[in-house]
Amino acid sequence: MLVFSYLLSNSILVFVPLNYPTKVNTLFTFYIDWQPCRGKWYLLFLKKNTMTIHLLRSPEHDLKDFNEVLGLLTTHSKSIKFKGHSKVDIKYKDALDVKHWDEFFKICQNYRTKKKISEDDYIFLLTEYKNTEDYFGWTDESLGNYFIQTSDWNLYFSAEVNKHFPISYEVVAWILRSLMYDTQEELLKNAHLRARGCVMDFCDEKEDIILKMRTGDVCNECLKRISDRGVNPVFLGNIFNTMENIRKGLMYRERNELLGMISPIRIKLGVNKPKFVLTEVNDLIFNFDESQTAIYLFLLQAGGVRLTELIDFKETIKANYRSVKNGSILARELESTVDYWVDPENPEVFTQKVSKINKKIKDLLGDKLATPYMIVNEKGRYKINLSQKLIFIEGN
Ligand SMILES: [Zn+2]
Repeated sequence: MLVFSYLLSNSILVFVPLNYPTKVNTLFTFYIDWQPCRGKWYLLFLKKNTMTIHLLRSPEHDLKDFNEVLGLLTTHSKSIKFKGHSKVDIKYKDALDVKHWDEFFKICQNYRTKKKISEDDYIFLLTEYKNTEDYFGWTDESLGNYFIQTSDWNLYFSAEVNKHFPISYEVVAWILRSLMYDTQEELLKNAHLRARGCVMDFCDEKEDIILKMRTGDVCNECLKRISDRGVNPVFLGNIFNTMENIRKGLMYRERNELLGMISPIRIKLGVNKPKFVLTEVNDLIFNFDESQTAIYLFLLQAGGVRLTELIDFKETIKANYRSVKNGSILARELESTVDYWVDPENPEVFTQKVSKINKKIKDLLGDKLATPYMIVNEKGRYKINLSQKLIFIEGN
């Protein structure tokens, strides 16, 4: 791979040949901008840190399921943006349950053209329909359009809701695969025919997909390929994090449904960006921002508070926010921020924070298992009904 780079003040000049692999191109934003440098003109490329994935809902795929999958994917991604399109006008040629996958790809491509979606973006069609090859998912030649089959999971999980995990896992797996190889042919050639618990296992058996998710790994051969390709570490980090979180989420849910168990929750203050973790679930993280963390911490300790009483707890919330920020906040900023949260004239600031926190918990754990950790409003009092025995706050 031929890439020359030249550092000039704060810009990076990158020269790439025209036949540079398309998907690797997504690592750069092409500013078609000629810059003078030492009397010559150079084409300037800047590094791009985001990637956009469009999920299309096929009309027969349930809206709630679609949103659950989207929720699992969006919760954990920063550099990879997922956009859900639930009202896409899709008409299939016939009413048969089994379709040729070309029809799926055509839907993606038509949507891309109609909505002027960049060719660097990914489009996934989530459909209940089966395909003639009986694949769980596949891509077209551009490696830009994909489908994932969403049906037939009820045989494999005790709770229907758990099917959201393999579906979202496969979306991420396909993104990783597309960064490893450039063509369908290469993908097929390098797929592991015998499952080794790797992202390149192309399982057609649903049991194998679940097994792959449980082991959730990438084999040495594939790691070498990723390293040789120089896949952008920002994307890679996000992809692995997302896969790992989906895996943990599935295992947590299954185990807890089986045992009716509620994991303790722990937070370690006095560290940079402290996070709540569920200790019995391989330290699954509640991905709250700092303000959400401070408020959740307060509610865990407060044991129930009315909106009108919030202002009385201002000092406690301030102390929490200072701890969460590990002291790195100016007194004036701390004061005005917390004043804003507890302002009796603007209670919706607080209630909106509560609903965002609850959404994050639900997206991570699903309705049933999220229940003990949710902030509830009982007769006007906001509280978390988690037993104090299960709450560990360190370094306060
Ligand atoms: Zn592998």
